[in-house]
Amino acid sequence: MERKQHLTNARRLVVKIGTRLVARGTEPPDFEFLDQMARQVARLRERGLQTVLVVSGAVHLGRRALGLQGRVEQVALRQAAAAVGQPELMHLYLEALSAHGVLAAQILLTAEDMADRARYLRIRNTVEALLEQHAVPIINENDSVSVEGVTFGENDRLAAIVAAKIHADALFLLSDQAGLHTADPRENPEASLVCIVRPGDDIRHYGAQAVGSESRGGMPAKLAAAQMAIECGIPVVIAHGAEENVLLRLLEGEPLGTFFLPGEPLGGRKLWIATAREPAGRLIVDEGARRALGNPDGASLLPIGIVEVEGEFHAGDVVEVLGPDRKAIGRGIVNYSAAEIRRIKRLHSNKVAGILGHTGPEEVIHRDNMVVTGE
Ligand code: GLU
Repeated sequence: MERKQHLTNARRLVVKIGTRLVARGTEPPDFEFLDQMARQVARLRERGLQTVLVVSGAVHLGRRALGLQGRVEQVALRQAAAAVGQPELMHLYLEALSAHGVLAAQILLTAEDMADRARYLRIRNTVEALLEQHAVPIINENDSVSVEGVTFGENDRLAAIVAAKIHADALFLLSDQAGLHTADPRENPEASLVCIVRPGDDIRHYGAQAVGSESRGGMPAKLAAAQMAIECGIPVVIAHGAEENVLLRLLEGEPLGTFFLPGEPLGGRKLWIATAREPAGRLIVDEGARRALGNPDGASLLPIGIVEVEGEFHAGDVVEVLGPDRKAIGRGIVNYSAAEIRRIKRLHSNKVAGILGHTGPEEVIHRDNMVVTGE
């Protein structure tokens, strides 16, 4: 029921298509898969739905064209492979979609584009304009120019960020796995499919499933992306992309794959925090602070509740907040640098000015600048 409610009314979709659906090893591209995806996208368009595709496969196709074996770890070579493979990848999708009368457009993004507000607003406007023109934006990371250390890393995360920022109604993460299993189904015959994940469910023990040489993500990346999207209020499904009419059936509420029930939608600033790049550092808080923060109408984070500071960051950065058991509580924008928090942790707020030599805000993270995740 929960699934049906969320998916049957979706008007704007982000669909992430993994490398292994399009290409495997040295085999030729899977034209049949591409054709059935394109047919479904065309059908959705006829019904007035908007689809944005986030596609992977540039590195794989490029590596194959260049005759490189195995996983490519050297940065320049990976970027070269992406430069060779991206036009081929795009060509495959363009051909498939145009056979069904759908016009497609390419957008290549770096993590820096999405982290810079002015650039991101431009991108969003471009996507909106394309959708208004009934074109299908096809997005991939601009792997050839991405700077090491600030890449999206895998397209599951990119898809979640795109879905959040264009206010999609649903995110489908399609790969060659039927969904999240209780164990790796390729190794454990007892593994069963998890049909629904609710906010706050502890799924960390699932999903430690192998990553193939074709793609970067695997199940852990999908779970992290799903987590980000549901925090932003977007329902997510992880499903097998080659399942017949998978998009159409999911939108009818059919129980395929693993459905992630979303939390409350987040507004502007909080959405920004939830989709920020990797947090710049971590604050470990005590049990009292964990309880105070875990409450939805909860408190701000004060110095007294902070036990430990990890990493080096500046005031204004997004950091992760962990409980005493190191379980994630949420993320927020800090009012103080890591060095300052190391000096004021465990102290009453009225001591802070004396120690730092200047008066600042009472709280290390104000509630309005915090997104709470795992209760
Ligand atoms: N952007 C990469 C590519 O197109 C894929 C990253 C991933 O495997 O998710 O090859």
